Amino acid sequence: MKVGLIRCMQTEDMCPGKTCLKVMSEKKCAFKEISEDVEVVGFISCGGCPGKKTVTRAAEMVKRGADTIAMASCITKGAPIGFPCPHVQLMKEAIAKKLGENIRFIDYTH
Ligand code: SF4
Repeated sequence: MKVGLIRCMQTEDMCPGKTCLKVMSEKKCAFKEISEDVEVVGFISCGGCPGKKTVTRAAEMVKRGADTIAMASCITKGAPIGFPCPHVQLMKEAIAKKLGENIRFIDYTH
């Protein structure tokens, strides 16, 4: 599995992404059922509210080999402050529309 990870730009000041990288390398949490090796192709932010840049940023990661787009837990669960992204559904729909059905989505990291 080649993962392009998208994180919340608003949480960059409070989280360096260590746990996301750890659960991918150790295949834990959202990655525990993955039998293949997990390779991180890219680790980008949404570009800021309302997250429109995720569409082109995800596409760039796919161009570089990503077959899976993972939304970090800062987006979908609101980690680490319990404040999920209010735009996540729109972002996911727009990314899926742009990238087509061959791309796998993972909804959280840890
Ligand atoms: S759009 Fe969502 S994920 Fe991006 S900065 Fe805003 S709250 Fe965070």
